[in-house]
Amino acid sequence: MKSKVYFVAVKDAGDIPTVCDSLRKLLDASRVLDVIGKDDRVAVKIHFGEEGNTGFVNPAYARVICDGISQAGGRPFLSDANTLYKGRRTNAKDHLEIARAHGFTRKATGVDVVIPDDTIKENTVDIPIDGTYITMAKIARLYADADALAAITHFKGHMITGFGGAIKNLGMGCATREGKLMQHNDNAPVFYGDNCIGCGACAEVCPVGAISMVDGKSRLDKAQCIGCANCVGVCPTMALFVDMAAGDKVQLKMAEYAAAALKGKEKRSVFINFAVNINKECDCWGLENPRIAPDIGICASFDPVSIDKACFDLVNKACGKDVFKQTHPEQDGTRQLLHAQELGMGTVEYELIPVGQ
Ligand code: SF4
Ligand code: SF4
Repeated sequence: MKSKVYFVAVKDAGDIPTVCDSLRKLLDASRVLDVIGKDDRVAVKIHFGEEGNTGFVNPAYARVICDGISQAGGRPFLSDANTLYKGRRTNAKDHLEIARAHGFTRKATGVDVVIPDDTIKENTVDIPIDGTYITMAKIARLYADADALAAITHFKGHMITGFGGAIKNLGMGCATREGKLMQHNDNAPVFYGDNCIGCGACAEVCPVGAISMVDGKSRLDKAQCIGCANCVGVCPTMALFVDMAAGDKVQLKMAEYAAAALKGKEKRSVFINFAVNINKECDCWGLENPRIAPDIGICASFDPVSIDKACFDLVNKACGKDVFKQTHPEQDGTRQLLHAQELGMGTVEYELIPVGQ
C-alpha cells in the first residue's frame, strides 16, 4: 500500500513569511500533528548546522512546527545529538552555542534546545534491533524517553550516503557519538598515491589526526580513521576517495539505527522534510557547499521512507537528471531507502498530495 506524502511548493526558501504560511497550510492539510497527544513530550529532531554552514532549516520554520505541536497539546523541545567529527557540535556546550548562534533561541523558536551530554552514561540507551549489522544501537536517551518524535529534516546531498533525508536525520542524528562511530567505522577512504600532490589539506581537516605528511605525500592511519570523509571533500586531486562498498554499508547501518531510534514510537512519529537550499553536502559541512538544485518545497508524512523517496524524486525531476548520482557518482543513496523498507519502516511507494499555495 502506498503512503501519503503531502507537498507544498516553495519557490524561495529565503522568503520567510511566505514559507511559514505555506508550512502552516501543509500542517493543516496533512494533519500529521494529529499523532501528538495531550501532554506528550515531543522530541523535535533537527540539525542546527555546523559553523560556516548555511543550509540548515531556518529557526522560523522550526517555530511553526513547534507551535503546531504545542497547539496539538504536546510539549515540544528541539534537539540533536553530538557529532563524531571535531567541530562546533562535538560536545553539548559548544553544540548549544552554535545552535544559539544560528538563531535557535527560545525567543525565536518558543521552545528549549536540548543537547544531551553523551559522555554521561545516563544520557544514552542501548536499543536492541534485529538488523543485519546492528543488534544493539546506542541512542541518545532523550529520543527513547520522549512520548512522540517529530523529525525536521533538511534534504540535501551527502558524500557518503548520496543524499541525506529523514532516515539519515534519525539514524545518524539520534545516535550517540559511540553509535555514530559504529555506523562509520569501516569507512576509511581509499588512497590513490599517484594522485597526491602533497598539499596537506587532508591532514588539516582530519578531526582525529589520522593523516600525516610523509615525504611529500599524505599517509592515512586506518586504525585511527573514523570515516568522516572530511579529507575526501577537500582533496583537490581525488587522491583520497570514498570507498564505495563501505559507503553502501554505512547506509545500511544508518537505516538500522533509524529503526532503533523509532522503536516503540512508530505510530507516534511524524516527518517533515525541507527540500530547499539543496546543497552538495550535508549540514555538517562548514566549507564551500554549492547548491545543486533549485528550491523545491516541503513534504510531510508519517512514513520516513516515502518522504525521502518523494523528495529524491521531486529534486531529480526538477533537475531533469539524478543530481545526487551526478554529484556523488560513487554512491547510490537509494540503498538506505530499500533497506529501511526491508526493515519495515515504510515503503518507497507513495502518493504525492499537493497542497494549495
Ligand atoms: S575519513 Fe579522512 S578526515 Fe575523516 S578521520 Fe578518516 S582520514 Fe581523517
Ligand atoms: S588533500 Fe589530497 S592531494 Fe592534498 S595531501 Fe591530501 S591526499 Fe594529497
